[in-house]
Amino acid sequence: MARRRRVYEGKAKVLFEGPEPGTLIQYFKDDATAFNRQKHAVITGKGVLNNRISEYLMLKLGEIGIPTHFIRRLNMREQLIREVEIIPIEVVVRNYAAGSFSKRFRMEEGTLLPRSIVEYYYKSDELGDPMVTEEHITAFGWATYQEIDEILNMSLRINDFLCGLFTGVGLKLIDFKVEFGRLWDENDEMRIVLADELSPDNMRVWDSRTNQRYDKDLFRHDLGNLQEGYAEIARRLGILPEAGPRDLKGPETLQ
Ligand code: UDP
Repeated sequence: MARRRRVYEGKAKVLFEGPEPGTLIQYFKDDATAFNRQKHAVITGKGVLNNRISEYLMLKLGEIGIPTHFIRRLNMREQLIREVEIIPIEVVVRNYAAGSFSKRFRMEEGTLLPRSIVEYYYKSDELGDPMVTEEHITAFGWATYQEIDEILNMSLRINDFLCGLFTGVGLKLIDFKVEFGRLWDENDEMRIVLADELSPDNMRVWDSRTNQRYDKDLFRHDLGNLQEGYAEIARRLGILPEAGPRDLKGPETLQ
């Protein structure tokens, strides 16, 4: 197969040039990193599970009218996406205290918050993704007030939808991170769309009854087998690759 042009390589994904202008291929790696790359491991099967979970969640969100960059899954590890201009902000939505929030407010992990709380972080490995407010975002020109407004509304809709979806399968959505991008259509009209990925790498998901964790905290804090946790989320959502974990090598064409 001809080598494709690599457009970008991040911690967990690689972006290649797509088959048509305005498209990219998003490849999910098995690499897991935490604490700004201080901890690293290769976890067989993670990329395949994240590709499948992200596809499923993006399609479901598309069904309720959230525009996304997702076009279709190509194989076990790759999906075709629209090329967007990434807005350099990580939007974190929290329903329960955990992680950095628990530390900051000395609040026990798992404490239900009085309402969902949205935070913004500036995407910069060099600066360690500092938390920012609308003031920083608009003053530095990362996004306009109107764009932030749209991003906030979309993030809250995504949260409501995902909370319902997970509750239905006995899971609790503790928090998650999303990224958005600008997409221009033929008439040069710009739309904000959900971009990046939506996978257990970017969300905390616990069992509703036992509080068992199934997300990246398993890796961050050596709490258990990450691949099994992600597979459990996929299983509950009814989307575990049929051949099971043995079939997690990819890339192979499905369909
Ligand atoms: N998160 C992420 N990327 C980051 C930082 C956080 O996907 O660079 C996700 C993380 O998985 C969690 C949520 O955002 O679901 C909130 O993370 P938190 O601020 O508690 O940071 P952490 O404790 O993960 O460092």
